[in-house]
Amino acid sequence: MSLKVCKFGGTSMADGNVIAEIKKIIDADKARKYIVVSAPGKRYSGDIKVTDLLYGCFKELQKDGQCKNKFSLVRSRFEDIARQLNLSLDMKAVLDETEKRILEERSADFIASRGEYLSARIAAEVLGAKFIDAEQVIFFNESGSLDGEKTNKAIQAALSGVERAVLPGFYGKGCDGKVKTFSRGGSDISGALVARAVNASLYENWTDVSGFLACDPRIVESPKRIKCLSYKELRELSYMGADVLHSESIFPVRKANIPIQIKNTFRPDDEGTTIVPTSRYVLSGNTVTGIAGKKNFTVIFIEKSLMNSEIGFVRKVLSVIEDLNLPVEHIPSGIDTMSLVISSDALDDVKLNAMLEGIKNSVEPDVIRVIDNIALIATVGHGMSSSVGTSARLFKAIAEADINIKMLDQGASEINIVVGVKNDDYENCIKAIYAEFFG
Ligand code: ADP
Ligand code: ASP
Ligand code: MG
Repeated sequence: MSLKVCKFGGTSMADGNVIAEIKKIIDADKARKYIVVSAPGKRYSGDIKVTDLLYGCFKELQKDGQCKNKFSLVRSRFEDIARQLNLSLDMKAVLDETEKRILEERSADFIASRGEYLSARIAAEVLGAKFIDAEQVIFFNESGSLDGEKTNKAIQAALSGVERAVLPGFYGKGCDGKVKTFSRGGSDISGALVARAVNASLYENWTDVSGFLACDPRIVESPKRIKCLSYKELRELSYMGADVLHSESIFPVRKANIPIQIKNTFRPDDEGTTIVPTSRYVLSGNTVTGIAGKKNFTVIFIEKSLMNSEIGFVRKVLSVIEDLNLPVEHIPSGIDTMSLVISSDALDDVKLNAMLEGIKNSVEPDVIRVIDNIALIATVGHGMSSSVGTSARLFKAIAEADINIKMLDQGASEINIVVGVKNDDYENCIKAIYAEFFG
């Protein structure tokens, strides 16, 4: 029997009118039984997401010992929604209780999680569904990562025999018994966890665009929609910045081969994008499936003659990085050169200097250079490995846009070429690649 898990994102929960639309979507299909919601997002450009207001509450609390000012903004967002929907739920009492718990718990994660909590309380009321708190069913282990098996069993037990339920996204319970959140955009992961637990036939991810687009619509106007993506392509694109879906949301559904469908809450009849296991993927005929990218990386360029024949060279460099607990994004290498690409956010001056000193001492390079303000752009597609001349087309398009490539990495997966360019060239580079392959 068909069983769907639906996750509604921030814009889909932004005000009472959209929430009323969600009710129509859920009521239109009996298979849509389990619903995961985000905190209310922006109602218009320039508006502030509830999650951001809540992080503001935490800051105020740290500074002044209370968060009355910022919480009043959260309060009025939810009171407006309750009024628009004419809820019988006593919103004032729920908000008072929430404020009280915030003052007791006082952690950033707990405070940030309240957007989803309140959103789910409202959605459960509107949809006539059972509210199940994520604290009871999503668990993290001692290292802070998800405890997948415990979570899976708990969701199964909580939903067994339940006709319709709403769960808040974005958070669960840490092994210290306190609320803990995923990284930003993490409600997509919560939805995927529920889909896996109930062995859904489809994980519907309802957002504010009609599918996964070939590149960021904030850079290229109305990019083409991708009809079908493989899990692998999705992972590459979302990890590299296509934030329509959290990059970790495929892991739970991949375990159970559950397809994901991206749908538009504001245009529910649009077809959207289907994301399927790589084994079920049918080549679209396009060489490139999509383009995504992120700004603000630092490249550490290392050169030493005969580096390749020096046994242990790479290990020594990487152990310096490991000792400093730094995540490395890419390690492109040549005969006598290697580069380390690291997110600039992870590198303050102290860590950068410690890293440079550490590398100099352990491998005595001929040259070590720091290049910062680098943006990474990934061009992704299964079609790339089978068509000749893809890299040539890519580099020609970038060169013709008068953009200098600072770094290059072709992943071993053969479905991904990453270029590093100056931050300032980021948007133009994406436009140039898009025009070459989709124009
Ligand atoms: P939600 O609140 O529903 O989780 P998000 O804001 O997280 O929604 O993700 C949807 C947004 O992702 C879109 O509004 C769009 O601006 C942005 N986006 C970035 N890259 C892409 C892409 N390749 N395709 C579609 N949307 C994209
Ligand atoms: N509300 C959280 C955020 O803004 C989680 C989510 O929307 O998925 O990041
Ligand atoms: Mg999102």
